Amino acid sequence: MSTRQKRYFLSEEEIPTQWYNIQADMVNKPLPPINPATKQPLKPEDLFPIFAEELARQELDQEHAWIDIPEEVRDMYKYYRSTPLVRAYGLEKALGTPAHIYFKNESVSPVGSHKLNSALAQAYYCKQQGVTNVTTETGAGQWGAALSYAARVFGLEAAVYQVKISYEQKPYRRSIMQTYGAQVTASPSMSTRAGKDILTRDPNNQGSLGTAISEAIELAVNTPNCKYTLGSVLSHVTLHQTIIGLEAEKQMEKAGEYPDIVIGCFGGGSNFGGVSFPFMRHNILEGKKTRFIAAEPASCPKLTRGVFQYDFGDVAGYTPLLPMYTLGHNFMPANIHAGGLRYHGAGVIVSQLLKDKLMEAVDIKQLESFDAGVLFAKAEGIIPAPESSHAIAATVREALKCKETGEEKVILFNLSGHGLIDMSAYDQYLAGNLTNYEVTDADVQKNIAQLEKVI
Ligand SMILES: *Cc1c(COP(=O)(O)O)cnc(C)c1O
Repeated sequence: MSTRQKRYFLSEEEIPTQWYNIQADMVNKPLPPINPATKQPLKPEDLFPIFAEELARQELDQEHAWIDIPEEVRDMYKYYRSTPLVRAYGLEKALGTPAHIYFKNESVSPVGSHKLNSALAQAYYCKQQGVTNVTTETGAGQWGAALSYAARVFGLEAAVYQVKISYEQKPYRRSIMQTYGAQVTASPSMSTRAGKDILTRDPNNQGSLGTAISEAIELAVNTPNCKYTLGSVLSHVTLHQTIIGLEAEKQMEKAGEYPDIVIGCFGGGSNFGGVSFPFMRHNILEGKKTRFIAAEPASCPKLTRGVFQYDFGDVAGYTPLLPMYTLGHNFMPANIHAGGLRYHGAGVIVSQLLKDKLMEAVDIKQLESFDAGVLFAKAEGIIPAPESSHAIAATVREALKCKETGEEKVILFNLSGHGLIDMSAYDQYLAGNLTNYEVTDADVQKNIAQLEKVI
């Protein structure tokens, strides 16, 4: 038996048939999202103009712990699932740790990240409802790529607003989206009122996720049979991602182990929640003592330094008010390479779980994340996405603690994606040109002070 790498898979029949909705099992449920106009708790119908109806229902479902995966979606999952659970002997050896390190490899999806797990579900529910077009925004392009492919699979037209600076500086993700047949527009654009307004005021505006969200929502609301989709933060996105942890649970069983620690990198919370929640249910229901660690970038520290407060999900203030850990919707994170983690807030479920101390959060500086990413690449052969490297860095920290104490802890982390389209970032790291970004307390306080006190 090889002691360098061991991989665990599931047969087609063993691939889960349901997603897990942790809201049903939480003792303290997440507070309700609030309609900013009426200040009333949101009802699913309030979301119907923007999202597919089934997704709006899933978003607010606090009752059903198990939700059937539609057969059409599960059939598509079989293209790349189960994803491998890997015992990382190479990394253990490189660190000289007695810990047993496992990772779930979501980078094997056709688009290279976990995001396809939710893109397929969202495109399916849109199709089922008679929707013909979907819109979304994308920064670095991971979500845009996943949605573009999922739209193709279910015969939908996809229009993606990509932040202008990424559109120009990261041309490969744009070409990936276009290869799948999506229409990609640099945002701000002249194709929407929101875009025109911004460009009239500031013709050289380079765009942000805020401008792109505004344009995508506007297009969805004004176009018949068109819905908006989102790749993170919302509870229905995390629900779909629980396929990761549900598979990992069965695969760990095949390995004869159960994790003491589960780790995921953290942007809005979907891959972290996806790998964690199926294990966390055993903490809630059976008193297991697994630790759950979300690894966020030190330059965007909403979990470790933000406040728990109602805030908007976007810069423009178009979304419902969400009860979450936030740095304030005007917080402008530094331009780190882990673009998928540059978000000011956290999903409502993880926010409640963190408040109730059912999970922990750590912040990782950019250089530490790349140190860990390169160490992992050398040890395991896979070049991780800069986002995923935050989870690897947190894993390295825990594994080195085990080295000190001699404990054989079992650590599981989620490898959310590969970094093969991020090599310019690795180039800069290898050339010694990457820096850390510090966020001062004054920066954090300034944005938080601007938050309207809703609760
Ligand atoms: C988008 C993305 C993330 C961050 O999103 P979450 O919703 O926090 O999971 C992490 N890793 C990769 C590879 C991504 O594309």
